Amino acid sequence: MLGFNPGDDRTVADWKQIADYFTRLDKSSDRVQLQDIGKSTLGRAMFVAFISAPENIRSLEKYKAIQAKLADPRKVTSDAEREQLIRDGKTVVVISCSIHSTEIVASQLSMLLAYNLASANDTDTLSILQNTILILIPSPNPDGVDIVANWYRKTLGTASEGREPPELYHHYAGHDDNRDWFMINLKETKAVTRLMWKEWFPPIVYDIHQQGSNGSRFFVPPFYDPPNPHISPLLLRQVGLIGHKMAADVTAAGFKGILTNALYDTWWHGGFRTAPYYHNSIGILTEAASARLMSPSNVTHEQLDRSATRGMRSATEVTTNFPNPWEGGVWHPRDIMQMELIACHSVLSLAANYRADYLNNFYELGKANLASARPGEPLAYVITAGQGRDENLAKMIGALVEQGVEVFRLDQELHGETASQLLLTAGNVGSKGTLIRRVTNVTGFAPPEIPAGSYIVFLNQPYRQNVLALFEPQVYPDRITPTGEAERPYDVAGWTLPMQMGLQSLLVMSLRESPGQRKLSLIRSENDVRSDLGLALWTSDKSPIANPVKPGIRVAIYQNSRAGNMDEGWTRYVFDTFNVPFQTLNEGALNEDNPRARFDAIVLPSDRTREPAEPGAEESDRGISDVGLRNLARFVEDGGTLICFDGSCGPLIKRWKLPLRNVLEGLRSADFYCPGSVLRVNLDTANPIARTMTKETDVYFINSSAFELTNTPRPVFDGEQTPWPVRVIARYAKENVLQSGWLLGEEKIKDRVALAETQMGKGRILLFGFRPQHRGQTWGTLPLIWNAINSSGR
Ligand SMILES: [Zn+2]
Repeated sequence: MLGFNPGDDRTVADWKQIADYFTRLDKSSDRVQLQDIGKSTLGRAMFVAFISAPENIRSLEKYKAIQAKLADPRKVTSDAEREQLIRDGKTVVVISCSIHSTEIVASQLSMLLAYNLASANDTDTLSILQNTILILIPSPNPDGVDIVANWYRKTLGTASEGREPPELYHHYAGHDDNRDWFMINLKETKAVTRLMWKEWFPPIVYDIHQQGSNGSRFFVPPFYDPPNPHISPLLLRQVGLIGHKMAADVTAAGFKGILTNALYDTWWHGGFRTAPYYHNSIGILTEAASARLMSPSNVTHEQLDRSATRGMRSATEVTTNFPNPWEGGVWHPRDIMQMELIACHSVLSLAANYRADYLNNFYELGKANLASARPGEPLAYVITAGQGRDENLAKMIGALVEQGVEVFRLDQELHGETASQLLLTAGNVGSKGTLIRRVTNVTGFAPPEIPAGSYIVFLNQPYRQNVLALFEPQVYPDRITPTGEAERPYDVAGWTLPMQMGLQSLLVMSLRESPGQRKLSLIRSENDVRSDLGLALWTSDKSPIANPVKPGIRVAIYQNSRAGNMDEGWTRYVFDTFNVPFQTLNEGALNEDNPRARFDAIVLPSDRTREPAEPGAEESDRGISDVGLRNLARFVEDGGTLICFDGSCGPLIKRWKLPLRNVLEGLRSADFYCPGSVLRVNLDTANPIARTMTKETDVYFINSSAFELTNTPRPVFDGEQTPWPVRVIARYAKENVLQSGWLLGEEKIKDRVALAETQMGKGRILLFGFRPQHRGQTWGTLPLIWNAINSSGR
């Protein structure tokens, strides 16, 4: 019905074709049942396919109920009941395809996998169907399937065949659609999170990806170091077991170039395959070498030889974790599909053969998390109401509730004695009561009362590890290469949620007296919050937030049209979420003319020119053109406000000779290194842009910027040469800069300028060294953006 076999060279099925294929399968096979799970950001219908034996498919509600009990052992009343549940239950496995839409082969594979399971009658397949329930997600980003399929078809046979589309393949997030799994900003994340951690509780989740073209053919777990300290060792071992089974099966089928224990780590939180670890489940990632979308690629021995990563010095060198290098040649989408198909069967056959073990381990991990705290161990986190950040509180608690974290709400305030008992020993200390290295301890915090509307997150709950992984400051280990450079983590190093949200959370270390059950209510959804309490919890798609920008101010967000920029996408996300009207100012329009007649404020998202992936690649020319920069300068001189985030500051400073210098530029990572981390700044709260903020504020830094002021003379303007008027609005802290994550070379950044404002003509330029809206997660620093816009005049 497609007119081709999934995986054929130069063919691609778009979302409608994939959906039609599954609909037919649903109609013709009693092993397959589709379920709608919601709408994508651009309105496409999202669905998943349940695949199992017909008798299981007919009893899905029964198995769902079993999973809900195994996921929360408090619901299991006796050993006999537990044994019965494990005897009756099936291993629920989620397999998800192509969340990254250019990693396109798995979305095509989904049809073949479903067809095979729906039609084969060999013993292995029958055992899989009997013992497992597969929830197959053909793509958790259907919009992206079409963006890539349409682009691929349009460019087939042209010079652009096989290249990536010049736009984000998720409307807001692009590639970062797989960085959203604890913040739950995107509709797609919400839909899949609900399916997994509110409804089905799968003990095994397999997320299928592709990597670059020139290295190993297939990465499978175990992962590289460092592991996140909140992932159970039992889970890490089971991740390794499944990965090695995949590696063995793919090797047995004759494939070469299979890599384990390299590049990808389990440190960061927020990915499709990392969220399971904090829900007592096994998360598996595989990364197949990419072809050129659905066109074959040709990989030379020299390219393989040069390909190196953490854990692999060269894709031609035999090592224990890479015993059988591939010799190079033509690489087809079909090769990718076959390896992924084998890997799917590896995971499903293990899930079938060791069904009882998987269910039992899943139950036991949840149970272990329910143990009461021993003396000296933390009991709970309290997030007090009345911090002046009600929207942030609503969003953070909403995100926790959406991912199944149990949160209680205080319906009455606690006064005096009771309150101080609760918070007697609270403070921002690490788990086990020890001070976290390099992180300030907040002591002596004992407010006279805890207001109604405050939230309490107890740690003895099935998802205890998720609470700790989100609330504790991350302490990334100093990992240095033999040449003395910093070893780059796979993703960010720190993400502590309350810090990003600008909310104080207090760790409760002892509680002499229960605050009384009648005063606490368990929050499972927005319906559980009394409506007279206003914006207390927010989980819905529709934002309840009132526009913080003054009416009449005309705002633009600059968009480079030659390539997608995720920071631009997240900026739009944040503006849409806060109901701030804006227009996109694209490159073409900026090249035409001074935008001052149309706009009062322009935001330049962070857009650092990336190093070209291959020598000679064209990516290096994606900055703003000379003409565009000239028009932007006139915009400011005519009274406009230009707001620059991180990577967009550098070109302006250089071209316009602004009186600042990024002191971190050009430093070796041996001297300074700070991948995604939370840092502390001191704000000048007398400045209107920081007036609503607290003096000490946490900001997000991801290989970002720190400035010093220079004596660069001001270009002659209006006939007179005067010094640049510069106002420093924020400096990185003088000590204890790092709050969460990893920072090497603190002395290079401390007390340096983090946010400054300078005048040019009648207008102003705001230079953010950090990322005030990173991934839509840093709500704590969003007011700086709104204040900056509000300070612009017409
Ligand atoms: Zn990927």
